[in-house]
Amino acid sequence: MNEKVVAITGASNGMGLEAAKLFANKGWKVFAGARRVEKIPRDADRIVALHLDVTNTDSNHAFVTHILKEAGHIDVLINNAGYGEYGPAEEISMTKIRNQFETNFFGAVELTQLVLPTMRAQNYGRIVNISSIGGDVYMPLGAYYHATKAALQQWSDVLDLEVAQFGIRSVCVQPGGTQSSWGTIALKNSHSNMRENSAYQPLVDTVSAGLDRFMQRSVKASDLAEVFYKAATELKPSLRYLHAFGDKFMV
Ligand code: NDP
Repeated sequence: MNEKVVAITGASNGMGLEAAKLFANKGWKVFAGARRVEKIPRDADRIVALHLDVTNTDSNHAFVTHILKEAGHIDVLINNAGYGEYGPAEEISMTKIRNQFETNFFGAVELTQLVLPTMRAQNYGRIVNISSIGGDVYMPLGAYYHATKAALQQWSDVLDLEVAQFGIRSVCVQPGGTQSSWGTIALKNSHSNMRENSAYQPLVDTVSAGLDRFMQRSVKASDLAEVFYKAATELKPSLRYLHAFGDKFMV
C-alpha cells in the first residue's frame, strides 16, 4: 500500500495527459485510460496505458479490474474524460445528447461506483471530478455540455456527503479555457450540429467568435494538471478547485 495509485480517464490528450505525466514525475503509479491508448506515454515503471471507453460498461469494468489486480488498491480516481457538444439546443440529435451525458456524466458515475468498495475497505480515497467553469456559468449553444457539468457537480457534492464517513472525499476541478482540442471541437460541433437553413446561424456565428476569443486567452493544460494534483492530495480540500479566465483564480 506504500505506492500511491491514481487512475486518470481521458489521459491521451490535454489535461489528462499532462496530469498523467505530473503524477508519474511525483512518483505515483498512474493507470491512464483513453480510447486512443497509443497516444498515452509509456513508462514501464510509472504509467500503465489502458484502453478505456467510459461510455462502455465492459470497458469500465475491465479498467478497474486491471488496476486492482495489478496495484491491489487505488488512492485517487480522476474523472477527466469529456468533451463539449456545442450547437443549438433544438437541433442537436438525441443520439449526440445521450453520448454527451454518457461520456461526461455516466462514465464518471460508473467508474466511481466501481472503485468505491475498494476505497471504503481502505478507509481512504479521493474522487476528483473534472467539471468546468461551465458547471456554474453558461452560454448559448452549450446547453448539453453545461447540463452535464452541472449534473456532475451536484452529484459530486452529494457523493461527498455520503462517503466522507469512510475517509473518502469527492471534489470538483473547474477549468476555464485551457489549451487542448476542446475549443476546436466545440467550434466544429457548433457548425456541424446545425440544420440546413438554421434559424440559429447568426447566433452560432456570434458565439463561435466569442468562444474563439475565449480560447485565445486560455491557459496551458499543464497548469490544470497542477490543480488536479492539488485536488487529489490536499488534506482538507474545498469541494471546488476553480481555475478560470487565465487569472489563476482558485478557491
Ligand atoms: P481534450 O479533448 O484535450 O482531451 C479529452 C480526453 O478525453 C482525451 O484524452 C480523450 O481521449 C478523452 N475521452 C473523450 N471521450 C472519451 C471516452 N468515451 N472514453 C475515454 N476517454 C475519452 O480535452 P481537455 O483536456 O480540454 O478536457 C479535459 C476535461 O476538462 C473534459 O472533461 C472537459 O470537459 C474539461 N474542460 C475543458 C476545458 C477546456 O477549455 N479545454 C474547460 C473546462 C472544462 P480519446 O479520444 O483517446 O478517448
